[in-house]
Amino acid sequence: MGAGPAGARAAWVLARHGARVTIFDASHPREKPCGGGVTGRALALVADAIDATSCARTPIHTARFVRLRAGGASARESATVDLDRGALVVASRAAFDAALLHAAQQAGAALEPARVTDLRVDAEGVTLETRHGRRRADVVIGADGANSLVRRRVAEPFRRDQLSIATGFFAHGVTSTEIVIAFVADPPGYIWSFPRPGHLAIGICAEATAGCSSEALRARTAEWIRATAIAPGARLEPYAWPIPSLAVRDAHELTVAGSRWLLAGDAAGLVDPITREGIYFALASGQWAAESLLRDGFASSYSSRVAEEAGRELGRAARFKAGFFRPAFINVLMRALQQSAGVRAVMADLIAGRQGYADLKWRLLKTFEIGLAWRALTSRSSRPAL
Ligand SMILES: Cc1cc2nc3c(=O)[nH]c(=O)nc-3n(C[C@H](O)[C@H](O)[C@H](O)COP(=O)(O)OP(=O)(O)OC[C@H]3O[C@@H](n4cnc5c(N)ncnc54)[C@H](O)[C@@H]3O)c2cc1C
Repeated sequence: MGAGPAGARAAWVLARHGARVTIFDASHPREKPCGGGVTGRALALVADAIDATSCARTPIHTARFVRLRAGGASARESATVDLDRGALVVASRAAFDAALLHAAQQAGAALEPARVTDLRVDAEGVTLETRHGRRRADVVIGADGANSLVRRRVAEPFRRDQLSIATGFFAHGVTSTEIVIAFVADPPGYIWSFPRPGHLAIGICAEATAGCSSEALRARTAEWIRATAIAPGARLEPYAWPIPSLAVRDAHELTVAGSRWLLAGDAAGLVDPITREGIYFALASGQWAAESLLRDGFASSYSSRVAEEAGRELGRAARFKAGFFRPAFINVLMRALQQSAGVRAVMADLIAGRQGYADLKWRLLKTFEIGLAWRALTSRSSRPAL
């Protein structure tokens, strides 16, 4: 249920292996509030189903990191990281998701363009209510996003402290081949600008419990757009959307499957809390859900696979997060990005989804510039956790 990356990927895998699949989603064609950054690893995963080069997308050549002080960005505080070809594209989610859905339909999945208004799971199967009537299925994959109805019916909805609010603007009429990441101290995180074909997706994200309203965050983004003149003459279309943002313990105790139901993608909480990469995890978990069902008709191996291949990594990211956005670390990082090709290479790999969190800290500390600056910093002050 849901034809985003998670649902479309699950349907494609299942249908290709002869399973009878119906996708429920009334939203297409649609744009999704999203940066649209699709990493090299996500592109590689779907290369067997779609030709991502034929979707509307912007190949990204550079990532510019900026440290914001009061009054906006200054050139002295920015550093540019070159990205390999294919490390990151920024896709129109309308086009990327449509291509995934089309591939699933070509493989034999049926699309029922209806919103599911309710569902009930019993020992024999699942009953789904739609405005076209009642439908019965053996199993449901809840791939219906951060506000998942399936999740609310079969498990607990996300608590507020498990969600971030992302908000900002689509700046129509302006684009680029560069992503911009502007670190902000309060709330700790960054403003991003991701260039899609025909517009920039500009946004900011904060924990839902951080005490910042969506309006205040959006106003801050608007002020950044004005101060940096990044989108001259653009028509600004506002958006706001939740992103799951799990803490360490939540990432280690994911609720993703039970009798006759599985949760994938955002519905399962699978988003990197630092980079906000969710598309890869949605695609991968959709695939794991399908493979688990194909193996034994139920979801027996799915939970352990998600825990091993996603939960552990998301837990590491969650542990890393507080230290990562601390002003002391951002100071060190910005200086090192300006001076060190080694640090720029680590960040390029992080952006491309090639750098895991297990050795991120050590790879950074091993670089001369970060190692030196970090030692100086930690010998002068109480040791900031990273
Ligand atoms: C502002 C923002 C920026 C982001 N930037 C990035 C980024 O640059 N790169 C990245 O990798 N990730 C990014 N993410 C995260 C990414 O958007 C999600 O992780 C990803 O879309 C999850 O895919 P999904 O298939 O699980 O869910 P979704 O893409 O949300 O798809 C869910 C689908 O289910 C449908 N649906 C919902 N309810 C029902 C219902 N009751 N009945 C039927 N259908 C239903 C919806 O219409 C939708 O089509 C960003 C998120 C936000 C909010």
